[in-house]
Amino acid sequence: MKRLQGKVALVTGAGRGIGAAIATAFAREGAAVVLAELDVETAQRTAADIAAQTGGKTLAVQTDVTQSASVQRAVSEGENAFGPVDVLVNNAGINVFCDPLTMTDDDWRRCFAVDLDGVWNGCRAVLPGMVERGAGSIVNIASTHSFKIIPGCFPYPVAKHGVIGLTRALGIEYAPRNVRVNAIAPGYIETQLTRDWWDGQADPAAAKQATLDLQPMGRIGKPEEVAMTAVFLASDEAPFINASCITVDGGRSALYHD
Ligand code: NDP
Repeated sequence: MKRLQGKVALVTGAGRGIGAAIATAFAREGAAVVLAELDVETAQRTAADIAAQTGGKTLAVQTDVTQSASVQRAVSEGENAFGPVDVLVNNAGINVFCDPLTMTDDDWRRCFAVDLDGVWNGCRAVLPGMVERGAGSIVNIASTHSFKIIPGCFPYPVAKHGVIGLTRALGIEYAPRNVRVNAIAPGYIETQLTRDWWDGQADPAAAKQATLDLQPMGRIGKPEEVAMTAVFLASDEAPFINASCITVDGGRSALYHD
């Protein structure tokens, strides 16, 4: 029996990176997967690849997580195609790394619009159905920036701290209805997001090497390694894990360094 057999999952920002890896792992484990993504053409390509690779059911829906109505529409389209959403992964996120005093109001707003409002919009769209059915699993993709601060990365860690607060608050609110809300805090994972950050540094090769030098396992993570944890939290293998966060960073955030 596959671990998500018969379940319906919606993954935001599933066109590429960690979201695409989660959508792939879910389909491989038997879930029908809705890929809710800003760029619908990317989502359609990824959805077709996943269906071809896994034989699973997929649906791409153009979605902007900053807009509550857009997320509601994605949930409705997914439910019309496959039935009630059992699992939501709030994965869509953007890096907004600024100096606090030179940051513009727009930088602040677009960071919170995607990285925190986007997570709430997803939860808000699926919770009524999950609460009514007395079952559901929500997995929010947080970050090691949810617990640690790196100077110059403002306000991303503020929003990601908020994701943990939201996870804990909703996990407690809906625990009596058997709706579990958990988070995953990835460390450095090799995706376009990470490559863009290295490329934006004065010496990209040196920036990448500096990242690697601080990795206890001598490498950064793969999107598939985050996806494995998402499968676990989404599945019935984690029935008593709620309002929690699992760190997936190869030990990086436990390492002391000057
Ligand atoms: P990517 O940039 O590779 O992928 C993010 C996806 O989210 C893209 O497909 C992007 O679409 C989509 N997206 C962005 N804005 C929106 C929006 N408003 N509505 C819907 N979709 C949107 O990032 P990662 O895969 O690396 O990151 C995924 C999550 O993991 C994020 O929440 C990130 O903060 C978190 N994370 C990543 C880490 C890493 O090292 N990679 C470390 C810790 C956390 P488009 O391309 O069309 O803009």
